[in-house]
Amino acid sequence: MVEKREKELKPDDVQVISLGDCPICGGKGTLKAIQYVHDIPYFGKVMESTIICEKCGYRNADVIPLEDRPPKLYTVKVEEEKDLFTRVVRSKSGTIELDEIGVKIEPGPAAEGFVTNVEGVLERVRETLLMTRHFKEQEGDDEAVEKVDEIMDYIKDVKDGKKPLTVRIMDPLGNSALIGEKVRSRLLTQEEIDSLSLGPYVKVEPEDGEGDREKAEKNSGEK
Ligand SMILES: [Zn+2]
Repeated sequence: MVEKREKELKPDDVQVISLGDCPICGGKGTLKAIQYVHDIPYFGKVMESTIICEKCGYRNADVIPLEDRPPKLYTVKVEEEKDLFTRVVRSKSGTIELDEIGVKIEPGPAAEGFVTNVEGVLERVRETLLMTRHFKEQEGDDEAVEKVDEIMDYIKDVKDGKKPLTVRIMDPLGNSALIGEKVRSRLLTQEEIDSLSLGPYVKVEPEDGEGDREKAEKNSGEK
């Protein structure tokens, strides 16, 4: 079972919780969590939580559904503009794959959870690519710069409805999903679950064989 003390919150309640000192900059009492519950149509309630340090600007966000959901693979083929509005709930334990451009967003120490749509995911990818491009340009790696430009051109064509993009999201904890008319989903196989990264979550083996997965405490000192 997953502990969900957040359930006591009502939708639209915003809570600010003081977390004390910042582990990054050592600021005294500067770390805060801003949490609120948000009802997503055809999905259910999720809690969005952002940790912010007022002193150094450290920020980390996550989103956790408040209902238990099975671990699934969701797929949508984006072919026209309206498909860009397919909603994306990405918890820190979610892996996103953008097939045609070979981009994979995996859980990592600095991974963020978010609720957005496919267009928002493409915007995040574009920002990352721009940074990569900048680095590669400074290194004089023309080949890599060209590759980045190709991917950015492809993203632009997807946004204009000129090229297709297959978007996939998988989450061994069932905390991530795609929501929309064209979305298809199926349960993840045990093999897939074992091969996926959990991000900041720690897998806890059940003691008596009851239940298969447990969401353990989040590692606090992420990046
Ligand atoms: Zn700080």
